[in-house]
Amino acid sequence: MFIEIRELEVHPVDFDEEFGPGALDLGPDLQQRDGLQATGRAQLVQEHHGKHLTIKDIRVNGKVSASFEIACARCLEPVVHDVKREFDLLYRPLGSDAGREELSVTGAEAEIGYYQGEGLLLDDVVREQVLLAVPLKAVCRQDCKGLCPQCGKNLNEEQCSCAQLVEDPRWLALKDIRSKLEQ
Ligand SMILES: [Zn+2]
Ligand SMILES: [Zn+2]
Repeated sequence: MFIEIRELEVHPVDFDEEFGPGALDLGPDLQQRDGLQATGRAQLVQEHHGKHLTIKDIRVNGKVSASFEIACARCLEPVVHDVKREFDLLYRPLGSDAGREELSVTGAEAEIGYYQGEGLLLDDVVREQVLLAVPLKAVCRQDCKGLCPQCGKNLNEEQCSCAQLVEDPRWLALKDIRSKLEQ
């Protein structure tokens, strides 16, 4: 859905969109389980600078909710992660802050983005909010044993025989030091 400045000049635009799996490019690590919901409102915010200059900002607020599967960082089994996030964002015309350092300082408190041309693609807003809400790394459980680096078996499910046989000499040296320290 494209949010057009021209339409916002007439009235605020409410949205209630569902994005099916694959509709948004969320990268290869995130599997969307069902429909992603995005509801909210877009409206025009006019900034008056002096008599002649008016900057048209787009304020978008609302919420996104979705459910994802992320591969466990250790064993690669899918971990379910539900996202619910509210947002309130201000998009300024690209280039409007050029050469005005002070704005980027005050702007640090509010979430500010930029739009280019005739408006803003809602899909981009939603995509960014989802990516901010999802952890970079997930583990299926705190004590996940992961995969055996030798044979690739999931060590949560079965113990393989290679783990004990091959021990790195560097680890043996460390073990030796530790046992001396513990005495
Ligand atoms: Zn795991
Ligand atoms: Zn193994």
